[in-house]
Amino acid sequence: MILPSSIDSLISIWSKLPGVGEKTARRMVFYLLRQDKDLIKNFANALTALAENVQHCEICGAISDSELCPICRDNTRDKKTICIVETEEDCVAIEQAGVYNGLYHVLGGRYSPLNNETIPAKSLEKLARRISEGNIEEVIIATSPRLEGDLTAFALKDTLKDFPLKISRLSYGLPIGGSISYADRVTLHIALDSRQEME
Ligand code: ZN
Repeated sequence: MILPSSIDSLISIWSKLPGVGEKTARRMVFYLLRQDKDLIKNFANALTALAENVQHCEICGAISDSELCPICRDNTRDKKTICIVETEEDCVAIEQAGVYNGLYHVLGGRYSPLNNETIPAKSLEKLARRISEGNIEEVIIATSPRLEGDLTAFALKDTLKDFPLKISRLSYGLPIGGSISYADRVTLHIALDSRQEME
């Protein structure tokens, strides 16, 4: 059966989301079709707002609805400590756990030669500038507890070796092969409290 093109194109976009195949996408779209038209419109408006209003903080790279994120604007935060994470989502996870009061730096990538991935050079330059201009005393590396996270942590350690800094890494606690984004509050708290200085 040939579907109307509006349905067909929505299914095709939806099935590009992680973990969603065509069948699931079709089910979701038909579910939406059975809902109130207002819900569909609200859903569409929320997606438009996502595209138009969300940006990256100019200082730390976290998601924000203005040039600077609320964390970088907050004068009660500890401005001498930067927690380095791979993704915006990791930053949200640590923030929501409420266990950390310093600043963040979102790398927006990781070092994984096997997958041809590398840390964006711009992000590293920005980090180095922040450290030297902001008199940062400690950097906490919160990369994922898996091989790519280890490689990224060592690459960071190497990049930052000439700064007079304490460089520590979250101690795990965190499930090996897992991700920061999905760790629970208690696990993050323990991982942060027992962070270890990198030798
Ligand atoms: Zn920020």
